[in-house]
Amino acid sequence: MATVETALGPVATTELGPTLMHEHIVTRSPGVQENWPHLWDRNAILALAEQKMADLYRRGIRALVDLTTVDLGRDIDLIVGVARRSRVHVIVATGVWWRPQRYFSVHGVDAVAELFIRDITLGIGASGVKAAIIKCATDTAGVTPVIENVLRASARAQKATGVPISTHTWAAGRTGEAQQAIFAQEGVDLSRVIIGHSGDSEDLGYLRGLMERGSTIGMDRFGLDNYLPTAKRVDVIARLSAEGYAGKMVLSHDANCWTDMLSEDAKRRTRPQWNYNHISDDILPALRKAGVKDDQIDQMLVRNPRAIFEATPTRRR
Ligand SMILES: [Zn+2]
Repeated sequence: MATVETALGPVATTELGPTLMHEHIVTRSPGVQENWPHLWDRNAILALAEQKMADLYRRGIRALVDLTTVDLGRDIDLIVGVARRSRVHVIVATGVWWRPQRYFSVHGVDAVAELFIRDITLGIGASGVKAAIIKCATDTAGVTPVIENVLRASARAQKATGVPISTHTWAAGRTGEAQQAIFAQEGVDLSRVIIGHSGDSEDLGYLRGLMERGSTIGMDRFGLDNYLPTAKRVDVIARLSAEGYAGKMVLSHDANCWTDMLSEDAKRRTRPQWNYNHISDDILPALRKAGVKDDQIDQMLVRNPRAIFEATPTRRR
């Protein structure tokens, strides 16, 4: 029986069900709440997260992938606390986002890869929780020296462990292409890579290319209309599904239960649809209306995520 590591230990991949492939429980600026603890009410955040996860479960979502890295303030004890209060499986990531701390530029590729491998094989900190996916990112600045370090370290950790890579991109700058090139150069099988935030783009040529080279694309920022309006996001998925690409797309919001970037009030005011429930409540009906078949929705939400995690070998080095 194939299993996947979660915040509460291994779970059969058959139990994952509908899975959101790019979300966050909590994101924060590392070091800020530790130094100004009045900014941090852990119990209130746990209560808020418990509520949001229950809403998600009620809608039929059974798993989410928390792609929160060290530079997004990954807090494994908090993630475990939320998972314990939730019936939704939480898959945890290792890796680095596009704001790496100085550490990641002054230590070499292999030293950084070792950190990721440790999270995957031994567990994160003293928690015993194993990461099941590697996150890395290329934003508007492109492949800077430190980002190249992180991309190559992610590739080497992928090859050493078999777990998938999931990226953040600046889709308008087609940065997924540079990521694929570096991964391929490092010998990564591109089918083990999810090029994230591809749903921000309506450049079908770019998106087809990413998938034709083997990767899955993340249609994973539903509710962030500032990058691409909802109607266009839906239209792109409908077109690509009609062309036969449903096997290469996964769905998500890139939302969170709490972030130090934006209050709950400000979220509701400025990004009213940016929440865990938007896909279940609004997007799936819109996709059906646009001609996407139930079987294709099942593929993007259930079968693709399951296959991505099933391809991780059980035996590790
Ligand atoms: Zn994200």
